[in-house]
Amino acid sequence: MEYNKYKQLIAELGKHFYNLGWVSGTGGGISIKDGNNIYIAPSGVQKDRINPEDIFLVNLNGDVIEKPLNDLRISECTPIFLEIFKTNNSGAVIHSHSVNTVLVTDLFEDYFICKNLEMQKGIEGYGIFDELKVPIIENTSKEYELVGSIIKAIKDNAKTKAVLVNGHGIYVWGNSWEQTKKHAECYDYLFKVEIERRKLL
Ligand code: ZN
Repeated sequence: MEYNKYKQLIAELGKHFYNLGWVSGTGGGISIKDGNNIYIAPSGVQKDRINPEDIFLVNLNGDVIEKPLNDLRISECTPIFLEIFKTNNSGAVIHSHSVNTVLVTDLFEDYFICKNLEMQKGIEGYGIFDELKVPIIENTSKEYELVGSIIKAIKDNAKTKAVLVNGHGIYVWGNSWEQTKKHAECYDYLFKVEIERRKLL
């Protein structure tokens, strides 16, 4: 297979996120956009064992341009990734099932809210002393059924770079894959602070 840096990158990030516990049990997902090319990991595979040749290439309409030679299916997150790209022109989207993202949806109702935390600076558009909010939507039995409520939450909350899903996880985006990774790490840190803080009360 011809070397492709985005396919390589998704395989590497899959291993990294697996080691963080964000995509274990074949859950979660990663997609990177390069112009009209959207690279997406396959469905139902161990995210620590993805190879670059397992990655799908689609366009914004969801037409498959390149698919793996083996029998893999494209990620169930695909309709959500594509709609997020169309709605906010982001460069990458990460879907994590991190324990922190699940626990904060137990602690907060409609929005995760924090304030006065240094790491808020890691989320574009936020300073330390701003009130940072992340909308929480209800889960659905099938991943793709989330798409309508995720897009509504994005449109209703212009500043947010993520949407939490009750009892499930988070969708995070940014201008580039680097910024998306940074956002995902900073959000996860902020969630952990609020979870740990409550243990001390
Ligand atoms: Zn999921």
